[in-house]
Amino acid sequence: MDLERIRQTRFSVIGAARSGIAVARLLAGAGARVFVSDAAPAATMGAALAALEQAQIPCEFGGHTPRAIDADVLVLSPGVPSTAPIVRQAVDRGMKVVSELETASWLNRGTLVAITGTNGKTTTTTLAGRMFEDAHRPCVVAGNIGTAFSEVVSVVGRDSTAILEVSSFQLDHVQTFRPRVAVILNITPDHLDRYDHSMDLYVRSKSRVFARQGEGDMLVYNYDDEMTRSAVEHHVPAGVTLLPFSVSTTPATGACVENGMLVTQVSGSRTPVIPVQDISIRGTHNLYNAMAATLTAQALGIGPASLRATLRNFKGVEHRLEFVQEVNGITYINDSKATNVDSVWYALQSYSAPLIVLIGGRDKGNDYVRLADLVRRHVKAVVAIGESAEKVDAAFRDIVPVATAGTMAEAVSKATALATRGDIVLLSPACASFDWFQNYEHRGRVFKDLVRQLPGAAA
Ligand code: ADP
Repeated sequence: MDLERIRQTRFSVIGAARSGIAVARLLAGAGARVFVSDAAPAATMGAALAALEQAQIPCEFGGHTPRAIDADVLVLSPGVPSTAPIVRQAVDRGMKVVSELETASWLNRGTLVAITGTNGKTTTTTLAGRMFEDAHRPCVVAGNIGTAFSEVVSVVGRDSTAILEVSSFQLDHVQTFRPRVAVILNITPDHLDRYDHSMDLYVRSKSRVFARQGEGDMLVYNYDDEMTRSAVEHHVPAGVTLLPFSVSTTPATGACVENGMLVTQVSGSRTPVIPVQDISIRGTHNLYNAMAATLTAQALGIGPASLRATLRNFKGVEHRLEFVQEVNGITYINDSKATNVDSVWYALQSYSAPLIVLIGGRDKGNDYVRLADLVRRHVKAVVAIGESAEKVDAAFRDIVPVATAGTMAEAVSKATALATRGDIVLLSPACASFDWFQNYEHRGRVFKDLVRQLPGAAA
């Protein structure tokens, strides 16, 4: 939608959290008529109310009245599911329903990069952003990663690149969103509850990241991931340049590993980028993330010398296989962001030392069978934590010793007692954190604080 159309359109923004407020202000700033509606009571939404009043945007809280659908276009915050009754009502009325991401992209002037996948988005987006910064290329990192695209889109100039972490929720209800470079890291079951438990719908949602691409655009994707490859092969539009990455084969273009070297083939030129062992983030999953970020940066003209330096120096993101410290010969790793089975699957194969793993929390219907083989090979003991401790215990007790802990402090102390010099204590819970903690960051911080309080630890 162009500026002229935006000015003639009445928008209703559903959800007044950070992204909702940002998109309402963006639209109002562009001259559109905007209304904001949120189901939460006004008493809990003080900051939102103040921001909207200041911007003179009319709003309602505590439920959606008919006014919420008295508009031309409904803009959905990422937290509002497509199945919400208000969305159904809007669709029934023939309203156009779009996401915050779609809306912000109408006002974007720069080059767009959109990074999606079930796991690895934040790591890859952060790394790609670092590659641009290190190469002194103007860029803005936004999206799911913290700052809504709507909050920053107005500062993205024509010569700048917006590097967006995009969740599948945000891809629901995009219509014209067209990134110059789209990245799909992997597609594995998570959040299936939001897609009628249909893998097909989930795959389609992820495919939206490239559905509007065309001539001149590039699609970076994980060739080793069946689901991703099949989505790309079935749905990619004509004219899009494919840049697959693989650790097990050598695709004609894209990235692969040859004799321990990360090698890329982009725009007809072959580049031995860096020996894999020199990449500072560890594990196969991080090699994938590194390949994806490298291809993205190269596709947009960043040279290998600069990329090499970034890949050597980038230490990863907090709470993702984060090294905490070594205490009495035992290494402690915080992987609190591992909120699904798939990320734990990668975590377990990222280390060669014996592991004592803290697993459990708020279970989203996990199937732990997938981990059994790796647990047998890499894990010395499991410490079951959180609401799902009993389920975790039942899943692993026939394979390895399982201890149960009623608090994180007890879990750290039991794990430490089970470990000997050379072992790794790994918090990689496979579950959401909301049973014991406010969020995964809180869980990770509590874990790290407890490690720092162990006898012999550096504070
Ligand atoms: P996201 O933003 O998609 O949640 P993160 O980079 O925050 O991804 O990583 C989330 C979890 O997934 C961490 O435990 C991390 O170690 C693990 N992980 C990171 N990259 C990958 C990947 N490519 N495949 C599988 N797991 C990954």
